[in-house]
Amino acid sequence: MSVRTTVVWDYAPAPESADHVRLKDRYGLFIDGDFSEPASGRFVPSINPATEEPIAEVAYGGPDDVVAAVQSARAAHPKWAALPGLERAKYLFRIARLIQERARELAVVETLDGGKPLRESRDVDIPLAAAHFFHYAGWADKLRYGVNAREVSPLGVVGQIVPWNFPLLMAAWKLAPALACGNVAILKPAETTPLTALLLAEICQEAELPPGVVTVLTGDGDTGAALVRAPGLNKVAFTGSTAVGRDIQAALAGTNIPLTLELGGKSANIVFEDAALDQAVEGIVNGIFFNQGHVCCAGSRLLIQESVHDEVIAKLWQRMRRLRVGDPLDKNTDVGAINSAEQLARIEALVAAGEEEGASRQTIECELPERGYWFAPTLFTDVSPAHRIAVEEIFGPVVSVLTFRTQAEAIEKANNSRYGLAAGIWTDKGAKAFEVASALQAGVVWQNTYNHFDPTAAFGGYKESGFGREGGPAGLRPYLQIVQ
Ligand code: NDP
Repeated sequence: MSVRTTVVWDYAPAPESADHVRLKDRYGLFIDGDFSEPASGRFVPSINPATEEPIAEVAYGGPDDVVAAVQSARAAHPKWAALPGLERAKYLFRIARLIQERARELAVVETLDGGKPLRESRDVDIPLAAAHFFHYAGWADKLRYGVNAREVSPLGVVGQIVPWNFPLLMAAWKLAPALACGNVAILKPAETTPLTALLLAEICQEAELPPGVVTVLTGDGDTGAALVRAPGLNKVAFTGSTAVGRDIQAALAGTNIPLTLELGGKSANIVFEDAALDQAVEGIVNGIFFNQGHVCCAGSRLLIQESVHDEVIAKLWQRMRRLRVGDPLDKNTDVGAINSAEQLARIEALVAAGEEEGASRQTIECELPERGYWFAPTLFTDVSPAHRIAVEEIFGPVVSVLTFRTQAEAIEKANNSRYGLAAGIWTDKGAKAFEVASALQAGVVWQNTYNHFDPTAAFGGYKESGFGREGGPAGLRPYLQIVQ
């Protein structure tokens, strides 16, 4: 057994070619169905975090650009809202199919721009983005069945702000239900990962989506702040940090603009002693090292029943040592680059705090590329519930391990968080899984799996992880008003 598991395979490099990618050197703002120069006159390079090299220049949306975006969207809304649902569905189906047609290109660009392993952008981000458009295309002519057979109407112009961890997928989560419901949308991608949203704008052109139905307003946090405060919006949807979510909520207080917030998390992944431990270890690895841990629902707080703690940690460490960190375009890579220098600094600061507070750190030994932003997978044991690494979202490839003795203690510890986005339960007993799941304050609970996403399933948080749901029929509700 030990002989078999100590074999370390040497893989030949298997880089995906980027030759087929045709990016422009410079992208304008996508307003009124076309790319235009920003009124701000500014362009900002988007950087490949694995090499620190610029990929393309992207327009910076300033205050006048925000006004132009809202004007164009307002003008487009009446016609789009008046289209029969079946007609809107045709556009969404077209967009979904075009995403599939350009999947290889989108996957490579997502990896170049964000640093995530190609295996993930190719197998998760892009197919799921297409699946969201397909799913909501199916709903466009059946909206009332998603809301208990009530009569509904769209809200109008929707401002949507997405983060950098799943750029195209988050754009799809936001745009597909909004458009299906008859709204028009202004999308603000993250400063560090705007490129697939701009390719999606090209796809909207190819699909002959009427001008103004989708606007892509690139820029930075100030652009987002200006957008949510712009007169003429009827709805705001945001995914990102709790701090910015709070700022947006404060900005909208006293208005009647509905808001959806999908914020951070410190999700508990709970391993009971009766779990299939090898399977659980795979789930732990997927829960925290998928996408370098840049996942709002990452299983970053690992709760292990004391009786199997040593065994699980030994197996987990063995498995972690085999993770391949490096070139995100290599098909063998498990853990890619950290998205930005700022995010790397945040991870390093929290990991340093973990060591200072007395937790035991183990980081895998691996050769990291000389340029780019990298952080090797890290395991913290001897963590107490008050440690910062047990409380704060690290948003990196770092797992903090806590223990418990009884089911009640597991539930109490899992719920001992200001967040409540997701949780995982590993057990052989179905009844126990349901009992624990119903006691957890988490929007999503996975049983014997983790980070499993599906467009038909609702996703969203409790407590400081936000409110409102995305995905499935529940994801229609934030984009509709009940007429009668
Ligand atoms: P932010 O919340 O700052 O960014 C999310 C999005 O909001 C980006 O498009 C950003 O633009 C935009 N934005 C920033 N400031 C404002 C504002 N005042 N008003 C409106 N929009 C704004 O996240 P960060 O990128 O700073 O990441 C910080 C931490 O947040 C991470 O370490 C992680 O813990 C957490 N996070 C959680 C995510 C989740 O999915 N739950 C996703 C991303 C981060 P721009 O990027 O251009 O500045």
